[in-house]
Amino acid sequence: MSTALVDDIKEIKEDNPFESMMSRFDRAAQLLNLDPDLYAVMRVPNRELKVYIPTRMDSGRIQVFEGFRVQHNFARGPAKGGIRYSPDVNIDEIRALAAWMTWKCAVVNVPFGGAKGGIICDPMQMSIGELERMTRRYASELLDFIGPEKDVPAPDMNTNEQTMAWIMDTYSMHARHTVNAVVTGKPIDLGGSRGRLEATGRGLLIVVTEAAKRFKMTPADTRVVVQGSGNVGGIAALLVHQAGFKVVGISDVHGGIYNPRGLEIPQALKHLEATRSFEGFGGAERVSNSELLELDCDVLIPAATENQITSSNAERLKCKVLAEGANGPTTAAADEILYRKGIFVIPDILANAGGVTVSYFEWVQDRMGYFWREDVVNERLQDTMVASFNDLCRYADAHSVDTRTAAYMLAIDRVAYDTRMRGIYA
Ligand code: NAD
Repeated sequence: MSTALVDDIKEIKEDNPFESMMSRFDRAAQLLNLDPDLYAVMRVPNRELKVYIPTRMDSGRIQVFEGFRVQHNFARGPAKGGIRYSPDVNIDEIRALAAWMTWKCAVVNVPFGGAKGGIICDPMQMSIGELERMTRRYASELLDFIGPEKDVPAPDMNTNEQTMAWIMDTYSMHARHTVNAVVTGKPIDLGGSRGRLEATGRGLLIVVTEAAKRFKMTPADTRVVVQGSGNVGGIAALLVHQAGFKVVGISDVHGGIYNPRGLEIPQALKHLEATRSFEGFGGAERVSNSELLELDCDVLIPAATENQITSSNAERLKCKVLAEGANGPTTAAADEILYRKGIFVIPDILANAGGVTVSYFEWVQDRMGYFWREDVVNERLQDTMVASFNDLCRYADAHSVDTRTAAYMLAIDRVAYDTRMRGIYA
């Protein structure tokens, strides 16, 4: 790679996930000695759509929301990635998430590229009817760009199987026939996959188990802390608890609970569901989210949101293994500190790839019109996650790099190979 390209790498803003992602991309590309033409093509998204979404609100008035869909890369297949609804959605975040999907699919060898979408809105303040109308209009604006062969959306923050059912229905109404493979994460009766809901948490259980074996830690003596208790964190905590690990801390957006002797996770999650808070859960000490990350433990699973482990707190982490459930929970500036401290990082693009792996299985099942038993889905997920974990460890050892860099190198290597073989249509 020319020095001019390397000189282009600017000083990164720590809390900008796109810059954080790109700095890792650049480092991996440099170590791979990536051809400058491939580098130029792969470091930018393929397409970025910005749409305005007129929505009739319950008041009868029209409100226009702003939405995005970034399609990062198609070299290995249709683009794949979630849609999030949040007041904080912005194009930099969506770009980073779209690129992470490309690298994630490549790390687990799923034949998809990467995409991500989002709408700037506050779903907590909207009625079901308003959410449905906004979702359908957003889907209709994307009609020419999504589809089973083009780009396959999925749920992400504040979207769920209902959102996917509305998108599938809108797309199908325009196609004049049912096209269930246009989205994944659908209700099972509408072509969803058994095991999809738990897949990301189950994927985490699988990689944490592999890491525990690598470091000769037995589940009963392995203390786990989980940040976040939604689809990823809640299910990961439950599954690792059921597998015999000792979950000593868990949190939601309002804070967490800690018991060094282990928490009764099923009861804690029931308490959270009933009261919408961990507050008042007996037999545990209250901790803030920042204290939670710094608890004494063997495995830390950040499964909430981006930028939780930064240059300000990385030094104080006490875990031996960091299994990243969320996308981008660690900033690039924190990587160096974790490496120096000898923390074994299972990077997000592997650790939370169980979700996209089972999404791929869902897409395959929809296209076959034949649906698998849950144990078949789980067994295939296990095979994919274990093989990918081992690929990553081998790659890191062979190139004498940390696991984060290895994950990016492995992914970029695979996407670069396919791009080179297809040729650049320029
Ligand atoms: P979710 O909305 O179901 O749960 C998020 C959890 O994090 C909630 O418990 C919430 O209270 C907590 N939280 C939110 N903001 C927080 C903050 N600032 N500090 C502490 N806790 C906070 O979302 P999810 O589906 O579990 O996704 C969590 C992360 O995992 C996101 O980064 C998402 O992109 C990523 N991810 C999700 C999937 C999936 O299949 N759902 C797959 C891969 C990656």
